[in-house]
Amino acid sequence: MCSSNNRIVIAGGGTAGWMTAAALAQHFGSLAQITLVESSSIGTVGVGEATIPTIRDFYHQLGMNDLDVIRATGATCKLGIQFNDWHRPDSSFMHPFGLYGERVQGIDFHQFWLKMRALGQAAPLGEYCLGASLAGSGKFTLPSRNPPSTLSVFDWALHFDANRFAGLMRDYAIDKGVTAVNATIHTVSQYDDGRIRALETECGRSIAGDLFIDCSGFRGLLIGETLGVGYCDWRQWLLCDRALAVQSQRGTSPNPYTRVDARSAGWQWQIPLQHRDGNGHVYSSEFIADDSAEKILRDNIDGELIGELRQLRFVPGRRERAWEKNCIAIGLAAGFLEPLESTSIALIETAIERIKTLMTNFDIHPSVIEEFNHTTAQEYERVRDFLIFHYKATARDDSDFWRYCRNMPIPDTLQHKLDLFSASGHIVNYRWEIFHEPSWLALFAGFEHLPEHHDIRVDRFPTEQVRQSLEAMRTSLRKAVDSAPHHSTFIREHCATEINAGAAT
Ligand SMILES: Cc1cc2nc3c(=O)[nH]c(=O)nc-3n(C[C@H](O)[C@H](O)[C@H](O)COP(=O)(O)OP(=O)(O)OC[C@H]3O[C@@H](n4cnc5c(N)ncnc54)[C@H](O)[C@@H]3O)c2cc1C
Repeated sequence: MCSSNNRIVIAGGGTAGWMTAAALAQHFGSLAQITLVESSSIGTVGVGEATIPTIRDFYHQLGMNDLDVIRATGATCKLGIQFNDWHRPDSSFMHPFGLYGERVQGIDFHQFWLKMRALGQAAPLGEYCLGASLAGSGKFTLPSRNPPSTLSVFDWALHFDANRFAGLMRDYAIDKGVTAVNATIHTVSQYDDGRIRALETECGRSIAGDLFIDCSGFRGLLIGETLGVGYCDWRQWLLCDRALAVQSQRGTSPNPYTRVDARSAGWQWQIPLQHRDGNGHVYSSEFIADDSAEKILRDNIDGELIGELRQLRFVPGRRERAWEKNCIAIGLAAGFLEPLESTSIALIETAIERIKTLMTNFDIHPSVIEEFNHTTAQEYERVRDFLIFHYKATARDDSDFWRYCRNMPIPDTLQHKLDLFSASGHIVNYRWEIFHEPSWLALFAGFEHLPEHHDIRVDRFPTEQVRQSLEAMRTSLRKAVDSAPHHSTFIREHCATEINAGAAT
């Protein structure tokens, strides 16, 4: 059965376009007619390779399982992100996807840790987190479905070949009835009230629809160029506006984490796939010239390069409104925040989730649009604040870039979060926030932004008892880590890919 107003047209066939097509085809089934227009003469960005655990929920909902997705995309397992030289040169910490320690009588673990740390009797925070400990040892195992304690709780994500992942989504969507059109959109025709009527292609086709989803990438063909929705520019806080990306041969066995190393005017990523590495240097064009940035990248890659370096330019920020009239922007068309915490694909997922939740029919009330825009803006702003903290919290003063970052003013929302943690050790967690307490805690500890006082209730426990409990936690985690296989062994035994290094993707 088909209702009216049910023609959904997606402009763009990158990761955002095909994820949206797959998820909406599954969600609406035959209730919607979905068409996706992509242009083989205009490429995709294709560099989104590191994810956070929500990606697994996304493809599970489509009925795909982890090991099959890993094999199909040459993926490796990701337990977190290792930050090197961010706090100061030679410093290192892990932002894992997992919990730290155990709450006792309603008191957060980190309050006990803060007390023992001040007494010089606690190990680094990561040693009380199974995910961080596994990652630091280069090991990986699937989380137990029935963990004996919260101490064993961790989550994981994937590093995958972005083009192959988009291909998986494409196959799924087409199988569910999505129509794919390979054509370049030339103009966008509109009704008198500004709503979009149809996409007109260079080959003379007119693709009419009721709801349009702009997944056309940075240019925002529909949301920006056609509907004129402005862009909130966040360069005053997030200075990086360029990236150089290149693939390289795998040398050693793959780490079960993304590596991000601070550089003099930005940072460098290393994302291990089974068959190759992805590398990139994200930097501020105000503080370093392109050729110097390129040299830094080349000098810091171990394996032989595969293919050419690509430069990508961007403005960190978000669309003023992600949904305007009958057009919703998803992916790079909706905004972009540097890939330091692998949030872009996650923001695609949450945008799709919001459409699924809010669009209970095809007659769209203005309140639906308002809710979508409000929550999208909040989510972007909370990711923005999380990213800004990485720069603001540095103790580095060895370059103009880092000196600027540590002295820059920050948004009030972030300042409040920092003040609250300093004053009470409490981590405020909002709805529509991608990163929860453990993530903030990892950052606070990694940058040594710690409260002066622990929760006074901790003092009810004898200090020696607390010390022994912390030690027992560490010992139990160590045992779990010792018995886990190396990441490469796990992959070889469960989900090895047949993709070769250098294979076209
Ligand atoms: C340097 C860098 C590193 C990144 N790393 C990560 C990461 O590690 N993790 C993460 O989650 N995200 C990352 N991202 C973001 C991630 O790459 C994107 O969120 C993701 O790829 C989605 O892109 P997209 O589909 O919105 O746009 P694109 O990939 O640009 O796709 C746009 C589509 O629109 C089509 N199109 C454009 N114009 C027309 C037209 N006129 N007619 C027809 N079709 C048209 C194109 O053909 C293409 O199919 C990174 C981004 C950058 C820049």
